[in-house]
Amino acid sequence: MSSGGASHNKILIGLGLGALCGIAANALTQDAPRAKHVLDVAIDSVAHPIGQIFLRLLFVVVMPLVFASIAVGVSSLGDLKKLGRLGARTLFFFVLTSGASAVLGIAALHLVRPGSGFPPETIAELQAKYAGDVRSLAEKAAAGAPSDLLGRVNQILDMFLPRNILKAAVEMQMIPVIVFALVFGAALTLIERERRASMNTLLEALGDAMVTIVGFAMKLAPYAVFCLIFGVTARFGLGLLQKLGLYVVLILACYLIQLLVFYPVLLTLLARRNPWKFLKDAMPIMVTALSTSSSSATLPTSIRVAQESLGIRPQIAGFVLPLGATMNMNGTALFEGAVVLFVAQVFGIDLSLQQQLVVVGMCVLTAIGAAGVPGGSLPLLMGVMAQVGVPPDGIAIILGVDRVLDMGRTVINVMGDQICAAYIEAAETKRAAA
Ligand code: ASP
Repeated sequence: MSSGGASHNKILIGLGLGALCGIAANALTQDAPRAKHVLDVAIDSVAHPIGQIFLRLLFVVVMPLVFASIAVGVSSLGDLKKLGRLGARTLFFFVLTSGASAVLGIAALHLVRPGSGFPPETIAELQAKYAGDVRSLAEKAAAGAPSDLLGRVNQILDMFLPRNILKAAVEMQMIPVIVFALVFGAALTLIERERRASMNTLLEALGDAMVTIVGFAMKLAPYAVFCLIFGVTARFGLGLLQKLGLYVVLILACYLIQLLVFYPVLLTLLARRNPWKFLKDAMPIMVTALSTSSSSATLPTSIRVAQESLGIRPQIAGFVLPLGATMNMNGTALFEGAVVLFVAQVFGIDLSLQQQLVVVGMCVLTAIGAAGVPGGSLPLLMGVMAQVGVPPDGIAIILGVDRVLDMGRTVINVMGDQICAAYIEAAETKRAAA
């Protein structure tokens, strides 16, 4: 099943039209409470369910697809040494690119200083308006954070090693499912060849069926993307964007640098690919990320397009992309570094070089830990701010515009995974030829 240029052009049209109609609807209903009520009802009863059908078709395949693609990927690698090599390369790439992204975010903030001289009345207004959201984020961040050492050790164990794989899957905890799939795939390499082959056939068929369901979702995509973007922009409008304009434009510019400079350089040097063709072929992945703001919801499309259009073999796509969707979030690392600096500038706090290095390290770690869902990094971001003495409640200032930035950082997050997959593909091909 091909992703087809025509269909992704349709999705792009849905995206553009959705944004335009949403902004227009927001502007037209600003001072008309009755019209605003009608708009709200239309969003909740029409746009929301259409968007949700699309999202749910994507989410529902994530767990079986992750399990099947990792297990079959690992078992068809054939030996555990190869797995170790791939794993080490992949993790090294994740940490390096996330670290570089955080540095880019911090450097841009130093250069432009959008937080200096921020009007105090705007700060007070935003803090009052988003106080409730900040409280619930802080609760999320604090939930289940044990105070004693044993509790913390157990929490880390729980994060990686499931006691009950079904429970982990039911709760959409990706990391334990990935770990189990890795162990399962590794175990398969050690059992009798014929039985391993039959299990692989089964897992491949499971993966193919999930990818086919993604194909169904993509048929609905142009309309669903229209509805999702319309819902966001109609409620959001452009008012806040004006107040935080410089901050938003700066971070969006950094995303563009990442996408159009940093990634093409990596693609050319490490993967020996024509970057512009690669980016063009990856368009359906970017559009899905932009409209869902979720790396997890984009994962099925990522795997499908990587195999069908980007020339990445199934074992590598099935191994690198699920890991990347949970652990490699370059856009998130960039964004977190930039927000910590922005809020510090707003409150006139100077961070020492050492503190900024701590920020970079924590951005890398939290980008690994953040869930690939809309706003998944925000609770962790509050922890990074607290660590270096920047008031976590200051996050209120940026919450109102975060959805726009979330769309952008999710694109960068999922494209970082594709660049890594292309790099691993090239490295493995070179090794096989040597
Ligand atoms: N929405 C992002 C993603 O899914 C996570 C985040 O930074 O909030 O990749």
